[in-house]
Amino acid sequence: MTKKIKTIVDLRDELTETRKLKKKISLVPTMGNIHEGHLSLIKNAQKQSDYVVVSIFVNPTQFVAGEDFNEYPRTLDSDIELISKLNVNLVFIPDVIELYPMNNKISTEVSIPELESIYCGKHRPGHFRGVATIVSKLFNIVQPDIAIFGEKDYQQLLIIRSLVKNHFLPIEIISLPTVREASGLAMSSRNNYLTESERKKAPMLYECIKTTVNLIINGAKDYEKLEREAKLFLEEAEFKIEYYNICDSETLGPVQGKILVVLAAVWLGKTRLIDNATAHTYD
Ligand code: AMP
Repeated sequence: MTKKIKTIVDLRDELTETRKLKKKISLVPTMGNIHEGHLSLIKNAQKQSDYVVVSIFVNPTQFVAGEDFNEYPRTLDSDIELISKLNVNLVFIPDVIELYPMNNKISTEVSIPELESIYCGKHRPGHFRGVATIVSKLFNIVQPDIAIFGEKDYQQLLIIRSLVKNHFLPIEIISLPTVREASGLAMSSRNNYLTESERKKAPMLYECIKTTVNLIINGAKDYEKLEREAKLFLEEAEFKIEYYNICDSETLGPVQGKILVVLAAVWLGKTRLIDNATAHTYD
């Protein structure tokens, strides 16, 4: 039976008992509207640990003014049903006031100066500070041995790895590949916003990223030209591009290491899509 817990006090009581039994605890943070992408993280958590905590929390501080905080799909009943079917040990569903007890009158934030104002951070100012802050809170509350995140949110993953390293948190971060629809479209709660015709077009983003990766694998080295060509292709299909960049997989700066990442964020009508793929460089 999946336990449903709303408060930090109850969660800590439950986990104190779990720790006494020397169980390895994992955490899968989500904003709910559970889809196959989330389920793959949860199933992996079950393989790697003895006790799985899934959190569902639509975190207000990671939404920038004017974004979709109010519209974000909230489907708690069906989420809990899906999670319970997997026999997850505990689902943590706190209210906003539980995680922001001072109502942000006096707030404490985690910032990641080098990574929070580029790419998604540039277009969503404050977003990653919100993410790093909430993940830090969840890590402190749950104190998991392992935490699992999706590679779909590539920049977010690097930020969480930097949080763990810089703040000496004894948590192993595991990342898992993006789960996609048969069309190649990366699964995302925001795909709910797509109209029928947009849904048909949306897979072109990943096709374009794969083309860029294949050209690189086949020896293309002029990354700026590849970026320009990809943008042109997507613009012709009426995507609005926020960014489309080939960058170093570890720093997100210019490619220096052995692995690069193609990172992209685009708008299709009212829907913002992000996706990425990594590739080895052959220098
Ligand atoms: P979200 O609920 O969108 O905040 O995502 C919660 C976690 O699920 C994050 O670690 C995401 O990276 C991960 N995630 C979201 N979509 C996917 C996907 N399509 N495949 C794998 N993981 C995903």
